[in-house]
Amino acid sequence: MPSKRTAPRQRTAPRLLVRSSDIHATGVVTLDPVRRGQKIIEYNGPRLPKEVADERYADRIVTYLFGFGDRGEVIDGFAASMFVNHSCDPNCETDEINGRVFIRAIKDIAAGDELVYEYNLYDSELEDIADCYCGAPQCRGTMYSDDEIKRRNRATTRKAASAAKKSSR
Ligand SMILES: [Zn+2]
Repeated sequence: MPSKRTAPRQRTAPRLLVRSSDIHATGVVTLDPVRRGQKIIEYNGPRLPKEVADERYADRIVTYLFGFGDRGEVIDGFAASMFVNHSCDPNCETDEINGRVFIRAIKDIAAGDELVYEYNLYDSELEDIADCYCGAPQCRGTMYSDDEIKRRNRATTRKAASAAKKSSR
């Protein structure tokens, strides 16, 4: 009689550790090696319409909001996922699947390495600051997306132009 073999166990998610980070404040380190393409953790939390979140966190300097989908919703992050830092040399990316957001490895990651992905921030106010100190050789110096940088530059030019107009009166 052929021996019954148990089905290969589904690859379990790596164990993660939230701890102080060399990059910024608090970060998330994997305690297990991670394979390229592997889903690591869900960016989970309550879903809110963006306007509600903006109102709720208007006075908060730090927020853990993750914009997703095309209906202007955000995820108000909690648990380990909200502590994953930005880097301009990321080893992870975020992947949206059926309204859920997962952090997925884009390269093999060794145990003990910090998980990082590109925030590509958008929808900022001009006075907001999102400088990047990730230390990667290709660091862009900002956590904003390319489109957001262009938008901010246009807005700054407009503001300067209107200020110049006012002062020349
Ligand atoms: Zn950087």
